[in-house]
Amino acid sequence: MKDCKIDKLQKLLKTDNFFLFISDTCHDKLFLELSYEYHFGFTLKSDPISEINIRFNTLVKHRALTIELEKKRSELEDTVFELAFASTNVLEQNEFLEQMARKDGLTMLYNHSYFKDKLKDEMTRSERYNNSFTVAILDLDFFKKVNDQYGHVKGDEVLKEFANIIKEIIRNTDTAARYGGEEFAILFAETDMESSINVIDRIREKLSNTVFESDSDCFKITFSAGITPYNKNYKDAEFMVDVADKALYVSKTEGRNRTTIYTAEDIDNL
Ligand code: GH3
Ligand code: MG
Ligand code: MG
Repeated sequence: MKDCKIDKLQKLLKTDNFFLFISDTCHDKLFLELSYEYHFGFTLKSDPISEINIRFNTLVKHRALTIELEKKRSELEDTVFELAFASTNVLEQNEFLEQMARKDGLTMLYNHSYFKDKLKDEMTRSERYNNSFTVAILDLDFFKKVNDQYGHVKGDEVLKEFANIIKEIIRNTDTAARYGGEEFAILFAETDMESSINVIDRIREKLSNTVFESDSDCFKITFSAGITPYNKNYKDAEFMVDVADKALYVSKTEGRNRTTIYTAEDIDNL
């Protein structure tokens, strides 16, 4: 493999995202070895889109790869790799890649803008059908210390693990997003406050039983949360998130590792 290719690849790998590379020839041995080590996927350019879809899904779902071995190693040409995410052609043709655009690359939760859209839809639905739903914002406590003490890569690992815990515990009908750096949002659809708090408590319990390891030591982490139930006084999504955020702030100032409930009326009375 040419040196510049390795450089390019290693730069991408350092970002710690999941990748699917599209190659137009058989795979080089070094490339294969790197893919085992760093868990990225690849597929042939000649593969049909549906095939690429399946690999992408496998990659995201199982956080591991399906690697189809070519029978023989062959020399890679100059234009061997294209990063799938960068391929607008594929993006246009491929519904799955559209989905990827709604996701946060590190945690594979939904991203901020998708969450806002979803929340707006849910508000419209609730206004019409009187469904109850809640919005919670979860923020890791003293996360900066994790980065400072154990490094950014370990910090990223913690973010991913926390996201996995959230995914594991919420229901399919809920929507979880990485709302900002170490801040996560959950929309508990058709759920009342008591059940929402229960779910947050289960996330808290699971996280409290999770031990992170660094080269020199082991550590645990907690999160604080703010939550608010939908009511008709919420006219826009920003306001609703803002109230959950204010409740989160109270959890922080009152000692962290806790959940605070605010309603739209609480804010009016502040
Ligand atoms: P608090 O309990 O008040 O929330 O304290 P904190 O340290 O968690 O909050 P602060 O806002 O001071 O720091 C957040 C840190 O999160 C700082 C920033 O470097 C880190 N961070 C944000 N995004 C990422 C990321 O993608 N990866 C890593 N490793 N760190 C991130
Ligand atoms: Mg924090
Ligand atoms: Mg924060």
